[in-house]
Amino acid sequence: MRALLIIDVQNDFIPGGALQVPEGDHIIPIINNISSKFDVVVATKDWHPIEHKSFAKNHKKKEIGEIVELNGLPQILWPEHCVENTDGAEFVSSLNTEHIDAVFKKGTDPEVDSYSGFFDNDKRNDTGLNKFLTLKGVTEIYVAGLATEYCVKFTALDAKGCGYKTFLIEDATRGVNIKPTDVQNAVIDLKVSGIKIVNSKEII
Ligand SMILES: [Zn+2]
Repeated sequence: MRALLIIDVQNDFIPGGALQVPEGDHIIPIINNISSKFDVVVATKDWHPIEHKSFAKNHKKKEIGEIVELNGLPQILWPEHCVENTDGAEFVSSLNTEHIDAVFKKGTDPEVDSYSGFFDNDKRNDTGLNKFLTLKGVTEIYVAGLATEYCVKFTALDAKGCGYKTFLIEDATRGVNIKPTDVQNAVIDLKVSGIKIVNSKEII
């Protein structure tokens, strides 16, 4: 069984959003084209309480982009984004949600960020995604969505770590590129970890 994971295709992550990913909207028609070709489709939502500690505004005298220590882990400070039950946290309206079987929310604990759709960054909390996919009999996972070097990368690494044959659909992701080589390096890290890089045109 083959699953598509659609990571964080939410209003705040596309151009015009609070934490916009350049060309983040360009992946939506690609995802819409392939979603019917999978046995199982899961989407994640970054879903933060307003007091979430990944937001620069929730730290005294800290700027967006600074790195702080949050409960023992390095944490990049982001602008406020994907606050639970706000428009910014909703799926982009052009995303076809018809084939989505389940939605998993992450980043709900204010004390720890969650890039991966499987686990919080400290690996203590589990979203239930692995159990869901196991019960569905999934053996292969294809990852698409936003942003390549954060939530997509860490979801793909955890998928691989959970024992799934894992693929990154490269043209169905976009990254932030705080440093211009961040996306490129993320793709290299994924390849080195045994994740296969594919193009959406290869998915039939
Ligand atoms: Zn977030």
